[in-house]
Amino acid sequence: MGKNYRSELVGAFGCPIDENPTGVMEEAAFQAKGLDYRYLTIKVNEGDLEDAMKAVRAFNMRGINLTIPHKVEVLRYLDELSEAAELIGAVNMVVNKDGKLWGENTDGKGFLTSLRGEGISVEGKAVTVLGAGGAARAISVECALAGAAKVNIANRDAERGTELAGLINERTGADASFLPWDTKLKVPADTDILINATSVGLYPNVNDKPDVDYDTIKPEMTVSDVIFNDPHTLFLWEAGRRGAKTINGLGMLVNQGALNFTLWTGVEAPVDVMTQTLKNEFGLK
Ligand code: NDP
Repeated sequence: MGKNYRSELVGAFGCPIDENPTGVMEEAAFQAKGLDYRYLTIKVNEGDLEDAMKAVRAFNMRGINLTIPHKVEVLRYLDELSEAAELIGAVNMVVNKDGKLWGENTDGKGFLTSLRGEGISVEGKAVTVLGAGGAARAISVECALAGAAKVNIANRDAERGTELAGLINERTGADASFLPWDTKLKVPADTDILINATSVGLYPNVNDKPDVDYDTIKPEMTVSDVIFNDPHTLFLWEAGRRGAKTINGLGMLVNQGALNFTLWTGVEAPVDVMTQTLKNEFGLK
């Protein structure tokens, strides 16, 4: 005897969560690496997170992903935070380290890895970020920590945008500014990298695009979107039409998932398998 019938457990807590494809990608990765892990996609309603986090401990889960609406609230149930997660003020993944829950935010790091994969570095660059929500906070803080010289934050809600720009100025070496965004946003001419980190264009509203003066996008710019469902956004199409290099949201999704895989298992992630699994899931070549 001595056989092990118990799988290691990880997963995601969120609501809504039914359409989140992360489990398919992570399970393909576990299989590719011969790891006996299971990824559970779990609906946790707002107000139930405390009980759900107790379950992470009680079930001896190796870790968990957090998505809408739990990324900020989870902070109060954790024992430790990474420096970046503390700065960002939100956590998208937790590792259970022998009973101690450690929170990290891999959204922005996944974004930077995706950019690097396309040969783009943010070091010394001027970055303009649309949005000041969870994804925008992670991306703009990680860009600043990775050496971006300038970070412009454009957001409809001025308070959220100003707060994020202030945080970057206070806590990182980058020079941050808030751009008010009431009507068609003019992209600052010195922008090297423009990022849509709003939820505009997300399925089912695939015919929506951020309210930008698209003629202010120049061919020298790199333009990226966080939206991965569908990754062929109108925002990227408009930018591509102006000659800009475009990078869709699938790379960020795969690369944050790859970082999570390694943090949970200690094993290098099979990024190619994860990318292909997601492409198949979205019917892409
Ligand atoms: P939040 O709800 O935290 O933030 C949403 C942001 O979008 C806010 O800044 C909000 O502005 C802005 N926004 C919403 N509607 C509009 C509009 N009509 N015009 C202008 N701005 C608008 O969401 P998240 O940051 O968590 O998620 C944002 C997107 O990022 C989602 O689509 C999500 O799927 C995607 N995402 C992708 C990941 C990936 O791996 N590719 C990882 C994580 C997220 P305001 O403050 O003014 O309301």
